[in-house]
Amino acid sequence: MNIAKVIVDVPASSIDQTFDYLIPEKFSDIVVAGARVIVPFGPRKVMGFVVEKTTASEFSKLKPLHDVLDFQPVLTKELLEIGKWLARETISLQITTFQAMLPQVLKATYKKEIVRLSEARLSEELELLFAGRDIVPYEDFIASGIRYIRLSEAVQAKDVAIEYVVQSRITKKYQTIIRPAKEIHQLEEAVLDLSKQAKKQKQLLQFFLQHPQPVEKQALLKQLKTSDNTLRELQKKGLLESFQQEVYRDPYAHSDFPKTEALNLTGQQAEAIKPMKETIENERHAVFLLHGITGSGKTEIYLQVIQAVIEKGAEAIVLVPEISLTPQMVKRFKGRFGSNVAVMHSALSAGEKYDEWRRVQRKEVQVVVGARSAIFAPFENLGVIIIDEEHESTYKQEDQPRYHARDVAIQRGQHHKCPVILGSATPMLESYARASKGVYQLTTLDKRTNNKELPPVEIVDMRKELHAGNRTMFSRTLKAEIEACLQKGEQIVLLLNRRGYSTFVMCRDCGHVKECPHCDIALTFHKNSHALKCHYCSYEEPMPIHCPECGSDTIRYFGTGTQRVEEALVKLIPEARVIRMDVDTTRRKGSHEKLLHQFATKQADILLGTQMIAKGLDFENVTLVGVLTADSMLHLPDFRSAEKTFQILTQVSGRAGRHELNGKVVVQTYTPDHYSIQLASTYDYTSFYQKEMLMRKTFHYPPYFFLALITVTHTNQVKAIQSTQQMVQMLSKVVHKQTILLGPTPSPIPRIKNRYRYQCMIKYRNEPHLQDELRKIMEHFSEQIRKDGLLISIDMQPYHLM
Ligand code: ADP
Ligand code: ZN
Ligand code: ZN
Repeated sequence: MNIAKVIVDVPASSIDQTFDYLIPEKFSDIVVAGARVIVPFGPRKVMGFVVEKTTASEFSKLKPLHDVLDFQPVLTKELLEIGKWLARETISLQITTFQAMLPQVLKATYKKEIVRLSEARLSEELELLFAGRDIVPYEDFIASGIRYIRLSEAVQAKDVAIEYVVQSRITKKYQTIIRPAKEIHQLEEAVLDLSKQAKKQKQLLQFFLQHPQPVEKQALLKQLKTSDNTLRELQKKGLLESFQQEVYRDPYAHSDFPKTEALNLTGQQAEAIKPMKETIENERHAVFLLHGITGSGKTEIYLQVIQAVIEKGAEAIVLVPEISLTPQMVKRFKGRFGSNVAVMHSALSAGEKYDEWRRVQRKEVQVVVGARSAIFAPFENLGVIIIDEEHESTYKQEDQPRYHARDVAIQRGQHHKCPVILGSATPMLESYARASKGVYQLTTLDKRTNNKELPPVEIVDMRKELHAGNRTMFSRTLKAEIEACLQKGEQIVLLLNRRGYSTFVMCRDCGHVKECPHCDIALTFHKNSHALKCHYCSYEEPMPIHCPECGSDTIRYFGTGTQRVEEALVKLIPEARVIRMDVDTTRRKGSHEKLLHQFATKQADILLGTQMIAKGLDFENVTLVGVLTADSMLHLPDFRSAEKTFQILTQVSGRAGRHELNGKVVVQTYTPDHYSIQLASTYDYTSFYQKEMLMRKTFHYPPYFFLALITVTHTNQVKAIQSTQQMVQMLSKVVHKQTILLGPTPSPIPRIKNRYRYQCMIKYRNEPHLQDELRKIMEHFSEQIRKDGLLISIDMQPYHLM
């Protein structure tokens, strides 16, 4: 008996296990682990993943599986294991983790067709099926009754391919290639044998005598001004042959990437790369933390590490944050490795993404550069995984499965016995702590490759501006610097540090910010109740009328948008040409690149924007960077706010004076003495790390404690609170004494779409069974989830606490 163990596409916790199906005789040789199948499930037919093939089942009366979707597995054995592990770690369903690893195209049911790839004779039945056509609808195959094994054999032999019909801007996916079918000397003889009238045929053959390589048919006919008929004559004589070759929808097909060569490494770079290369050679897993200031040559190290991996015949995954996956970035990898690189980017169309994924699946490339989900690239011989800007929060997926790409990278690195390299100018505190303890290997690059100093940072105290009667958003210093810059024809980057949806309360006179007495986190102003609340511990107090520090009545809650800043800027300096870049101006596909291109070609003087302008941009002519309100992020109800402020200030400062011209940075703030602003202005990561670690220790945050966040929502507020309360009680019985349980607390956004949201935060050091306990709790509430509209989400190591 042949049995398939299948994870079915039914998103319910009660279904999160394998089901056994009989493999009918006709599918017996084609069903393999990692392939998708269609199975009967209750009255329905659903998709599922085969995770294992066996010969025995503990159940009798098995139903047969209905259809096979893949003739080649879409998930490797390793990825099946990763999916299982990930489901446990993130408390998700296995079907969800499998789906997360695949391109969108494979998640929906698409029309399929069978494409003939070669002229080679197929089995008789298949020849009949094709009947002279190049492409046959898959339904025709089903209707023909031909055995699946025949099709499977033809797929394995690469004579045919089964393709998903994907809507795409480019519809042509295959092109006809012509090549000689005989040895060169035989072609020479044939030329002599041709009759005098066959001039065109002669010309064609002569062409191939000079260029024996395969050429694309249409281009050939055009170049030789000859017809299809002539070609067919020669094919009939067996002198030439044609075959179909896939044309990938390569989004970078029209870009030109000049070839670059490996640079001679600096002393620091050479020292950093040495142990990395050793682990690659010795096939050993290790995690490296490459801490290097902007411009210290981290990317060049990545490129040379990848070079070593390619030479070894292995493969590399490079993750970069979505937002830094700019043409500039792609160029660096394509320039070095050419078509050996696939790019996986969310801005690609579904068809393009699928094509890039297939190039990986078919081992046609050895390098993938992509955003978060590229970590699941189906390579089978990984030699290195690189995560650039490892501190970026976009590496954490915010919906199910809530995984962090770094954790998956390390898991895969262990499996493949290869190194994982984490690179950043401002490593995440957790990573640096692990490196300090020797869990990761730390390498530091503290010099820029051009030996230029980082630009000097001037902190401007905005409270003094107010006292001097300047009520605008621009300090006198910043205004003067902008004007000086404009005079010299140089460019400016202005960062408006985005705040969340929420507002903090600050005294405009003394800069005092109301914080929670128990959590060291800014209180959030709640408009409806006109009160200040802590999102971590539920502490609450009324909105003050006077500043408790200095008694001033200018205590306000804050909120500024980029649009308002732009208006103010234009009013203040009318001659400046401004490009505004924020979520509103970059919503349309390609608008991000367009705005950057305008700025690069000097169609504007000032680039004004949110965080999205802080990263990866490299403009020669930018000599001034201004940060409008450095503290706006500092007071978000987020224990990482100091860290994030430090990171963004460091990053945006690195945008100034990268090339010949010297740069300068002006940081405006109401809290000039805050350590994250002070230490960012001197680029002092180590001191920042030490200071911040003390805070984390005091307030029981990572890296000293792990976190798990449960969010419960319901349209009925009482039910939301009660359920959360019940969970806290259940948890308190099973967790360690040292584990801290906080809640029920209203979420920072207490109501969304009329659903009340409550949270429970778990702070723990060692709870090896926490995931199992949380799963049990989910099961306990499954009835209410199914029938009563209760929603529970669990986020292990959350980044967004909203
Ligand atoms: P990072 O990724 O750390 O910001 P990059 O790798 O982008 O740094 O390097 C910064 C600049 O220095 C780039 O223009 C790069 O081409 C150049 N560079 C890197 N390594 C070297 C080297 N060994 N010799 C000369 N120039 C280098
Ligand atoms: Zn005050
Ligand atoms: Zn609190």
